[in-house]
Amino acid sequence: MNCTRCQGTMVTDYLLDMEESGDVWASSWRCLMCGEVVDSTILKHREAQECQGELVGAVSKETVNDAQPPVAVLSPKS
Ligand SMILES: [Zn+2]
Repeated sequence: MNCTRCQGTMVTDYLLDMEESGDVWASSWRCLMCGEVVDSTILKHREAQECQGELVGAVSKETVNDAQPPVAVLSPKS
Protein backbone atom coordinates (compact mmCIF):
# COMPACT_ATOMS: atom_id res chain seq x y z
CA MET A 1 0.00 0.00 0.00
CA ASN A 2 1.30 3.45 -0.92
CA CYS A 3 0.63 6.75 0.81
CA THR A 4 -2.33 8.72 -0.50
CA ARG A 5 -0.42 11.97 -0.02
CA CYS A 6 3.15 11.29 -1.17
CA GLN A 7 2.91 7.75 -2.62
CA GLY A 8 5.56 6.70 -0.09
CA THR A 9 5.88 3.29 1.51
CA MET A 10 3.33 2.61 4.24
CA VAL A 11 3.79 0.18 7.12
CA THR A 12 1.23 -1.40 9.40
CA ASP A 13 1.00 0.42 12.71
CA TYR A 14 -0.59 -1.30 15.69
CA LEU A 15 -2.33 0.85 18.27
CA LEU A 16 -2.08 -0.55 21.77
CA ASP A 17 -4.43 -0.09 24.69
CA MET A 18 -1.78 0.93 27.23
CA GLU A 19 -4.09 1.81 30.11
CA GLU A 20 -6.10 -1.37 30.42
CA SER A 21 -5.52 -4.67 28.69
CA GLY A 22 -2.46 -3.78 26.64
CA ASP A 23 -4.04 -5.54 23.70
CA VAL A 24 -3.94 -4.31 20.15
CA TRP A 25 -7.26 -2.53 19.68
CA ALA A 26 -6.71 -1.17 16.23
CA SER A 27 -4.27 -1.30 13.37
CA SER A 28 -3.53 1.42 10.90
CA TRP A 29 -1.22 2.29 8.04
CA ARG A 30 1.58 4.81 8.63
CA CYS A 31 3.64 6.46 5.92
CA LEU A 32 7.41 6.26 6.41
CA MET A 33 7.93 9.35 4.27
CA CYS A 34 5.47 11.96 5.55
CA GLY A 35 3.92 10.30 8.59
CA GLU A 36 0.41 10.13 7.16
CA VAL A 37 -1.72 7.75 9.20
CA VAL A 38 -4.68 5.92 7.72
CA ASP A 39 -6.71 3.66 9.96
CA SER A 40 -9.57 1.33 9.13
CA THR A 41 -12.16 3.91 10.17
CA ILE A 42 -10.77 6.47 7.74
CA LEU A 43 -10.62 3.87 4.97
CA LYS A 44 -14.25 2.88 5.54
CA HIS A 45 -15.28 6.53 5.49
CA ARG A 46 -13.46 7.12 2.21
CA GLU A 47 -14.99 3.99 0.65
CA ALA A 48 -18.43 5.16 1.74
CA GLN A 49 -17.86 8.54 0.10
CA GLU A 50 -16.70 6.91 -3.13
CA CYS A 51 -19.75 4.63 -3.22
CA GLN A 52 -22.00 7.62 -2.63
CA GLY A 53 -20.35 9.48 -5.51
CA GLU A 54 -20.89 6.55 -7.87
CA LEU A 55 -24.51 6.31 -6.80
CA VAL A 56 -25.16 10.02 -7.39
CA GLY A 57 -23.44 9.78 -10.79
CA ALA A 58 -25.60 6.84 -11.84
CA VAL A 59 -28.80 8.55 -10.74
CA SER A 60 -28.04 11.85 -12.46
CA LYS A 61 -27.05 10.06 -15.67
CA GLU A 62 -30.28 8.08 -15.62
CA THR A 63 -32.29 11.24 -15.04
CA VAL A 64 -30.69 12.99 -18.01
CA ASN A 65 -31.43 10.09 -20.33
CA ASP A 66 -34.94 9.59 -19.02
CA ALA A 67 -37.61 11.24 -21.20
CA GLN A 68 -40.04 11.33 -18.29
CA PRO A 69 -38.21 12.08 -15.04
CA PRO A 70 -39.94 11.14 -11.79
CA VAL A 71 -41.16 14.63 -10.99
CA ALA A 72 -43.30 13.48 -8.07
CA VAL A 73 -40.24 12.13 -6.24
CA LEU A 74 -38.35 15.39 -6.62
CA SER A 75 -41.24 17.67 -5.56
CA PRO A 76 -41.10 18.90 -1.95
CA LYS A 77 -43.97 17.89 0.32
CA SER A 78 -45.83 21.09 1.15
ZN1 LIG B 1 3.25 9.91 2.74
